[in-house]
Amino acid sequence: MNIHEYQAKELLAKYGAPIAAGHAAFTVEEAVEAAKQLPGPLYVVKSQIHAGGRGKGKFKELGPDAKGGVRLAFNLDEVKAHATDMLGNTLVTIQTGDAGKQVNRLYVTDGADIAKEFYLALLVDRATSRIAFVVSTEGGMDIEEVAHSTPEKIHSFSVDPASGFQPHHGRAVAAALGLTGDQAKQAAKVASSLYAAFLDTDAEQIEVNPLALTEQGNLLVLDAKVGFDGNAMFRHKDIAELRDLTEEDAAEVEASKYDLAYIKLDGNIGCMVNGAGLAMATMDIIKLNGEFPA
Ligand code: ADP
Ligand code: MG
Repeated sequence: MNIHEYQAKELLAKYGAPIAAGHAAFTVEEAVEAAKQLPGPLYVVKSQIHAGGRGKGKFKELGPDAKGGVRLAFNLDEVKAHATDMLGNTLVTIQTGDAGKQVNRLYVTDGADIAKEFYLALLVDRATSRIAFVVSTEGGMDIEEVAHSTPEKIHSFSVDPASGFQPHHGRAVAAALGLTGDQAKQAAKVASSLYAAFLDTDAEQIEVNPLALTEQGNLLVLDAKVGFDGNAMFRHKDIAELRDLTEEDAAEVEASKYDLAYIKLDGNIGCMVNGAGLAMATMDIIKLNGEFPA
């Protein structure tokens, strides 16, 4: 189960991660009100959809020259204009597919003075069956490109569940980011707070990209993507309530009401399968023979 950036940030803030101030907004008026509560003078208006790549995304309705789904605003009029552009329109990003996703929520947040953008993520590494950190100095909007062309710039290490997060893990994150002194301490603290959040909430993924170093020398979580193990949500009722059904396929949502694991696929051969392994094998066989499962 996935949640929106603003929800992820509220959650991570509870574990001590450094988050800039910000407020969610469902209407243009709420977006302007949200900005008024921030110190300014720089605001950032961010489309809230369950997909990354928003900054470089394009709105279907606005044409190729319009700005993307994450925009700076230098006054309240600009906040209003950006909110008007975004709400109700369809954002297409590298992660949404051609259909894109309709933007129904915004996050209006404090603008940061960014000196450097890092990448920091936690996930479950299937090879080691452990929670792993993925760290890179090359954060920002092109992490897929970094992974593709310069994979040596991405560092990864896992945490032994028996001993849990240790100070040396924090130092390893700081070292991978090339940070020293006070900034290394900040990086270690961010790493430890993300690890605590991950364990506590039965997360499957926490991705902070960018983890920004500001001109003032502070680390700040500027973007956060958090996904949870759906099978564990029965013990996290507060998190389960954050589920946004408009982000999910309507047929899958309907099926889930009856405890049916319906997965929408685009193919031409319908599969009604009994068990995940058989489902996978059936789909593999269909594809191997040049057809597509549905
Ligand atoms: P996405 O990854 O979906 O494109 P991000 O939240 O990472 O969205 O935003 C894209 C870029 O916008 C970031 O890499 C960063 O450079 C900039 N940005 C995001 N939030 C802020 C902020 N609060 N202040 C200044 N710049 C920001
Ligand atoms: Mg990002």
